[in-house]
Amino acid sequence: MAIDPVCKMEIQPEHAAIATMEYEGKKYYFCSETCHNKFKSDPEKFLSEEDNIFPEPHH
Ligand SMILES: [Zn+2]
Repeated sequence: MAIDPVCKMEIQPEHAAIATMEYEGKKYYFCSETCHNKFKSDPEKFLSEEDNIFPEPHH
């Protein structure tokens, strides 16, 4: 299971041929071209938001 980094929707890679993109060696799946285009325009924004889903304490 993959997560669309833009809208956080769960994507099943085998069914999600709509839009995929490799960024910094990782493959990302998107539910639509809209999300894909948003990610392309500012990948760092969505990847930093992704970190906030599972906050881990750094001591
Ligand atoms: Zn999406």
